[in-house]
Amino acid sequence: MASAADPLVDTLRTLATTTDDPDICAAHGQDWTRRFAGPVRAVVRPKSTAEVAGVLAACNAAAAPVVPQGGNTGLVGGSVPGPHDSPVVIISTVGLADLGVVDELGRSVTAGAGVTIADLHAHAESAGLVYGVDLASRESATVGGTVATNAGGIRVCAYGMTRAQVMGVECVLADGTVASRLVGLPKDNTGYDIAALMTGSEGTLGIITAVRLRLHAPPPDTMVMLAGVDDLAAAMALVRRSVPSGAVLMGAEVVDDASLTLNCEHGGLPRPLAKAWPYLVLIEASELDPPDDVDAVAGEDAADKRRLWRYREDSSESASSQGVVHKLDISVPLANLDALADGVRALMPAQAHVSIFGHLVDGNLHVEIAGLDPDDESIDEGVLELTTRLGGAVSAEHGVGRAKAAWLGLSRSPADVAVMRRIKAALDPIGVLNPGAVLPPPPAR
Ligand SMILES: Cc1cc2nc3c(=O)[nH]c(=O)nc-3n(C[C@H](O)[C@H](O)[C@H](O)COP(=O)(O)OP(=O)(O)OC[C@H]3O[C@@H](n4cnc5c(N)ncnc54)[C@H](O)[C@@H]3O)c2cc1C
Repeated sequence: MASAADPLVDTLRTLATTTDDPDICAAHGQDWTRRFAGPVRAVVRPKSTAEVAGVLAACNAAAAPVVPQGGNTGLVGGSVPGPHDSPVVIISTVGLADLGVVDELGRSVTAGAGVTIADLHAHAESAGLVYGVDLASRESATVGGTVATNAGGIRVCAYGMTRAQVMGVECVLADGTVASRLVGLPKDNTGYDIAALMTGSEGTLGIITAVRLRLHAPPPDTMVMLAGVDDLAAAMALVRRSVPSGAVLMGAEVVDDASLTLNCEHGGLPRPLAKAWPYLVLIEASELDPPDDVDAVAGEDAADKRRLWRYREDSSESASSQGVVHKLDISVPLANLDALADGVRALMPAQAHVSIFGHLVDGNLHVEIAGLDPDDESIDEGVLELTTRLGGAVSAEHGVGRAKAAWLGLSRSPADVAVMRRIKAALDPIGVLNPGAVLPPPPAR
């Protein structure tokens, strides 16, 4: 049933496909983790940049808060309002799904913000090239969302993060101004880099409507190995000892035994090795030459490689099968990785069930904690403070969102945060774009 008349929603209906159906609003108002949710006034699905501009200008004129949303696979509460926020307009980008012709020589393509990462991969591959970012949420995560979060994923060791793929963006600012530079010049030193500013801005500075993305030559044929190790230092040593110099490392991931057990139980998978090890390391490379004494299984054909990857890629989903989970994504210098994992386990109260997995050579662990009150943030704080003491970042690849805004100051200096506030005030003076995400409330005067 539609809610009582809302003049802004009536205006939005004239500008783009808009609904205030309570079920649709509620579905868009809750994130993938089910830990974050808030009230939604309307969901708008523009089909063009001009529609986004009209909708944003109308919301800005009405001082109505807006949350941009792509695939809603974000894990830090950035794609939905907070529980105590006033109702927001969600601008869903899924209708911006155009894919341009691949420039095979220049190795780039323009993609609409709503194109999924899976569709982008298929499109690049049909032209004999590959897109460098891949992640387990590929079927739903969008180009716009991955640029807005500067997503990492499983190929960072080969191609870098999303930032390294972005050659230009088209975006709409809060007042409806459209800034567009999608020409994809490999050399272009003409002033401030708006694409770089939008990358990682998590919907707080503008809505990205299209992106010019770098593509890559296909990688060589690869092998995948899953091996048991005692700790993360041994996992890194095994990467060094198994990948001959000159070979191309395409992925180096890790799962602890708690995560592996959840994956096997949730996905009905057999345990991959006869012995249970504290960690399994997954290595994908163009050549693998493991030492003789290693306990490992390997796969070379596509089906085998996919089967082995499931022991790592199912981890987030199988952790969430335990209920609402505290999901923390952190990074530290490689030398401190074991101290981080061991320190996290030492912090856990008796009722917590922690599983740890992540992107090994990026120094990036995902810590998933089940069995705790979703609203109790004390464990989050403990893990993030430990990460900071070990020289790390409180967000490695998922962003800050609403989940970590209060702890931004653990990783960034007061001067950095002040610069961020000035940029935000310049581009979104009324503060309609994703309020409450990334930046904590300003200190009281
Ligand atoms: C199973 C699973 C595995 C995952 N694995 C990884 C991983 O390996 N690496 C990784 O980095 N992340 C991972 N993620 C997290 C998530 O997929 C990424 O953060 C992804 O980039 C979010 O894309 P999305 O389209 O779903 O964006 P959403 O979740 O919809 O939004 C994310 C943020 O971007 C903003 N936003 C979305 N679209 C736009 C736009 N067009 N313009 C401006 N702002 C916008 C939103 O406001 C929000 O702040 C995983 C998630 C799941 C569920």
